Amino acid sequence: MKIFISADIEGIAGVMRPEQCSPGNAEYESARGLMEQEVNAAIAGAFDGGASDVVVADSHAMMKNLRAANIDPRARLMQGKPRALSMLEGLQHQQYDGMLFVGFHAAAGEMGVLAHTINGSAFYRMKINGSVMAETDLYAALGAELNVPLWLVTGDDCLEKWVNHRFPEVEYVCVKRAISAHAAESISPQAAQELLRERVAKVVQAAPKSIEKRLGCPYKLELMVLRPVLADLFCMVPGVTRIDAVTVGYSSPKMAAIISLLGAFSYLASTQK
Ligand SMILES: [Zn+2]
Repeated sequence: MKIFISADIEGIAGVMRPEQCSPGNAEYESARGLMEQEVNAAIAGAFDGGASDVVVADSHAMMKNLRAANIDPRARLMQGKPRALSMLEGLQHQQYDGMLFVGFHAAAGEMGVLAHTINGSAFYRMKINGSVMAETDLYAALGAELNVPLWLVTGDDCLEKWVNHRFPEVEYVCVKRAISAHAAESISPQAAQELLRERVAKVVQAAPKSIEKRLGCPYKLELMVLRPVLADLFCMVPGVTRIDAVTVGYSSPKMAAIISLLGAFSYLASTQK
């Protein structure tokens, strides 16, 4: 059984401040250690549950957070960027039985610890077919397009409510209670890792087959940006329309195209700081 793990840092137990998520800070060095341990707990749980093959996609910032030497040697590691499918790069090349999202967070414009969608310094809010998107929604839809079900998500209690409402069939491991965007009451990393290992083993063993295709095709993206200059720039890409000063639109029958475009937008945004 093949398992795909996508790992972010904002939803890891013990992480709640921006400096913990930014390379170059001393705080980041310890936060990436917590991320490694939580990822290892998920890998161990997957093998406990009967997995034969586990791939981990390092999916925060430059996607180079996990130190390879610290990761369970039974897993393979996907790192670095750019990559077309971003947090799920590699899912298009071979068939996986299920996906686990570790350390995820609430959507841009919503309550939750370190809430954002893809790029917190460029994207204010994102909708597809009129519905606000968290990264969980975007990547669950991409998984569904590639016939891979989402089995489990970890993060704070705000994302827990979101996932329970939108994906009632998906398991959730809550590791902290959001107090504000930059404050949380977290369970201990060790407790989070034990809980995660146990819950992952259970869901991998059960291996649910159903895939929730929650979003209808075509996918109509509406992206609100933080400054008009970003919309000026993004609508220079052929096929992208201008909706208003701070909103651009794009439509595609493929979620993979939407994910690639958002990745390219995020890179473009870095030229306008
Ligand atoms: Zn992140």
